[in-house]
Amino acid sequence: MRAWAVRSPGPIAGGPLTSVSRPEPLAGPGEVVVEVTACGVCRTDLHLAEGDLRPMAPGVTPGHEVVGRVVQRGAGAERFEPGDRIGIPWLRHTCGSCRPCRRGAENLCLHPRFTGWHDHGGFAERALVDEAYAYALPEQFSDEEAAPLLCAGIVGYRALVRAHVPPGGRLGIYGFGASAHLAAQVAIAAGVEVHVCTRSLAARSLAHELGATWVGGAADRPPVPLDGAVLYAPAGELVPVALEALDRGGRLSIAGIHLSDIPVLRYQDHLFQERELVSVTANTRADGEEFLAIASRIGIQVETTPYGFDDVDRALLDLAEDRVRGAAVMVV
Ligand SMILES: [Zn+2]
Ligand SMILES: [Zn+2]
Repeated sequence: MRAWAVRSPGPIAGGPLTSVSRPEPLAGPGEVVVEVTACGVCRTDLHLAEGDLRPMAPGVTPGHEVVGRVVQRGAGAERFEPGDRIGIPWLRHTCGSCRPCRRGAENLCLHPRFTGWHDHGGFAERALVDEAYAYALPEQFSDEEAAPLLCAGIVGYRALVRAHVPPGGRLGIYGFGASAHLAAQVAIAAGVEVHVCTRSLAARSLAHELGATWVGGAADRPPVPLDGAVLYAPAGELVPVALEALDRGGRLSIAGIHLSDIPVLRYQDHLFQERELVSVTANTRADGEEFLAIASRIGIQVETTPYGFDDVDRALLDLAEDRVRGAAVMVV
């Protein structure tokens, strides 16, 4: 089958992904193989291609927002029927026995495996997953719309929850790509007032369309103090900017797996008055089920920019250069 592989990580303009041919995956016990119909292109794929994240397997195939139809089931795999449409997300294995796993925080597992990082992902004709980590997908979303829900949606949702903004409160969103445009809708549906800071003009118009109360530039100060904020842009220099925009007792949640260095913080300006700074690491399966149910209930609008199988490298380049509206998705 055809697949994309990270052979030698480097600047995306140099084309670090290579198109390769490799044997089709075979489902082992409890696993299923899908024929891939769509796969979201996430910023983490870009960090992997560019070497900000070290590949955990040589020549790994990225892509961890995989939508496909079940074509093969391994021994004992009975959760899905052949032909079912399922989603393969970022989190694909946890040990179940380490301290975080035992207290229900499987997102912090000491021995996790992630799709498209430890094991081959969805920029391929077929992909394999342990059925216990796959999701059934709400029918109302097309394959292209469902794909970005699987990482941008789920992890973005966890980041939103960790910002602790109550209904009627004020949320700041820094960066407005795939994750943020979905989380913003969850917040607005919950009665939260959303303030968006982003450098991209296309993203600013999307934020207005989706119902943001206020929209400004990347480092602009929202007109009111914020109860919480989420940093979706991988830009550490925005951490002090966002902390300064918080009200007393406000919380800043950092959504990304990779962040450029945070400048020196000044205690009085950035943290005193009980401001809090938290990070977000992956998600639990419960987060995923919860988010997919909310997305279905509120009829979340998924903005996508489609790319063909052969254009995955171009999609990553567009993502790097802020040219994607909403989420980039490879559609087979
Ligand atoms: Zn564990
Ligand atoms: Zn992702």
